[in-house]
Amino acid sequence: MSSLVLNVDLHCHSNESDGLLPPAEVARRASANGVDVLALTDHDNIAGLAEARAAADACGMGFVNGVEVSIEWEGGQVHIVGLAFAANDAALATGLAGIRSGRIERARRMAADLERVGIRGAFEGALAYAHDPNLVSRAHFARYLVEIGICRDVRSVFDAYLKPGLPGYVEHRWPTLGDALDWIHGAGGVAVVAHPGRYKFSARDLRRLLGEFKDRGGRAIEVVSGGHTPEQVGVLGRLAREFDFLASRGSDFHGPGESFVDLGKVASLPDGLTPVWTAF
Ligand code: AMP
Ligand code: MN
Ligand code: MN
Ligand code: MN
Repeated sequence: MSSLVLNVDLHCHSNESDGLLPPAEVARRASANGVDVLALTDHDNIAGLAEARAAADACGMGFVNGVEVSIEWEGGQVHIVGLAFAANDAALATGLAGIRSGRIERARRMAADLERVGIRGAFEGALAYAHDPNLVSRAHFARYLVEIGICRDVRSVFDAYLKPGLPGYVEHRWPTLGDALDWIHGAGGVAVVAHPGRYKFSARDLRRLLGEFKDRGGRAIEVVSGGHTPEQVGVLGRLAREFDFLASRGSDFHGPGESFVDLGKVASLPDGLTPVWTAF
């Protein structure tokens, strides 16, 4: 990366959701990797922001408040990142707390499903990996199934058990796109469609999602993500220009050895896009 281009990473996780490292360690690792500005974006939780910000300050690295909100759109799970919002906003806090309480109940149903295919103790096993039981995630179930030798790695667990139609997957009611945008915008933040290249929607449905997001005031999409191929970066760069979206860049780092890429180690934004960080 050229020294003239800022290394901005606006998507990553700590153990306040399904990441492996505490918030301060995420910030220190980002700084050591050369990140200039970091946003911590835990799933449905902003409890790690103060700790990460203090560590970022101590390293002389820029820090932006972040969160990755789980929603449901047309029957599929979609993630909306919120950036640069006021972390003390009451409606945002209440909305996120509602999502978290639903996760525990979903985890019980997932464990019951897994029990039907002979896998015992998955609820307790997954919770043992969750720093906050309310943030229990499919990622924690995956780590437990690897631990007990059902699969060799986390990705194989998703492919065999945790995706729609598989024995450990249960349907769940997440908030709507409108809910997530109301909470993020109400707290003064910028909303970003997370990793648009990762959804299983058709190209046509993805465009409808982006159109609805824009109509409701959404301003940005992740063009560069640790989960995107170079081809997807090209397609999403063109979509950002067409829809006049700001462009975001994030690693989606979850932990050493478990992520596509490390903090700050993703491609630069393609030329001709307006970076989302110009809006902070
Ligand atoms: P949840 O929010 O509980 O539905 O869990 C979703 C999380 O599981 C994502 O944020 C990723 O961290 C992880 N995940 C989803 N799909 C996969 C996959 N195919 N391989 C590995 N991890 C995945
Ligand atoms: Mn995750
Ligand atoms: Mn995500
Ligand atoms: Mn993420």
